[in-house]
Amino acid sequence: MNKRKIALFGGTFDPVHLGHTTVAAEACRRAGAEKVVFIPAKRSPLKGFLPKASDADRFTMIAIAIADEEHLEVSDFELNKPAPSYTLETVKQFQESYGSETSIHWLVGADGIEDLVYWHRIVELIDACHLTTMYRAGCEPPSFSRFERLWGRRRIEKLQRNIVQTPLVDISSTEVRNRLAAGRDVIDMLHPAVAAYIREHGLYPAKKAKET
Ligand code: ATP
Repeated sequence: MNKRKIALFGGTFDPVHLGHTTVAAEACRRAGAEKVVFIPAKRSPLKGFLPKASDADRFTMIAIAIADEEHLEVSDFELNKPAPSYTLETVKQFQESYGSETSIHWLVGADGIEDLVYWHRIVELIDACHLTTMYRAGCEPPSFSRFERLWGRRRIEKLQRNIVQTPLVDISSTEVRNRLAAGRDVIDMLHPAVAAYIREHGLYPAKKAKET
């Protein structure tokens, strides 16, 4: 019997953009998952800075961005824990609540592959779930062959099997924040309701130009 599949999508989502929602929906379809659960992190253990927007604002922006998407959900699981949260703990918790008849996929963009070696107990994580890698604009197509000596052939084959060919959407939260800081528009990068929320709540304010 085919197991039920649930995909979890972690990140800082500062803010959530159309790249996130587009690849999540497509990864869901291609992996044959029932749904994708966005799991905003309090902070990334690997990013040297805190998110600019509050936990509550980042959560609300995701909820707004996915409101009309049947297969996308958001969870405040990691926001309610003391920082930092490790993916392995989150995966174990979701696995426990869904039960052994469900397989858990953890989505990651191709830009994250190099950093995987620094993830907390990465080998256990590879074994505990289906680490599912998505294509990302500006990055090489995902490949794990160079990690074979580190993680062993069986794990590499599992990682390779779980690559999903998602569309290339050339958007990042950094670019969104930079554009907003420069007072430029982000209409092509965000769900319109997310852009409106940012405006109404004064998030990511434009930096004043320096007087000369
Ligand atoms: P930042 O620019 O602040 O680093 P980001 O745009 O990479 O942010 P994150 O919240 O850090 O967004 O990303 C969460 C997850 O989504 C990561 O696994 C990342 O690789 C993936 N991701 C983000 N944007 C895209 C995109 N345009 N295409 C594919 N994957 C993406």
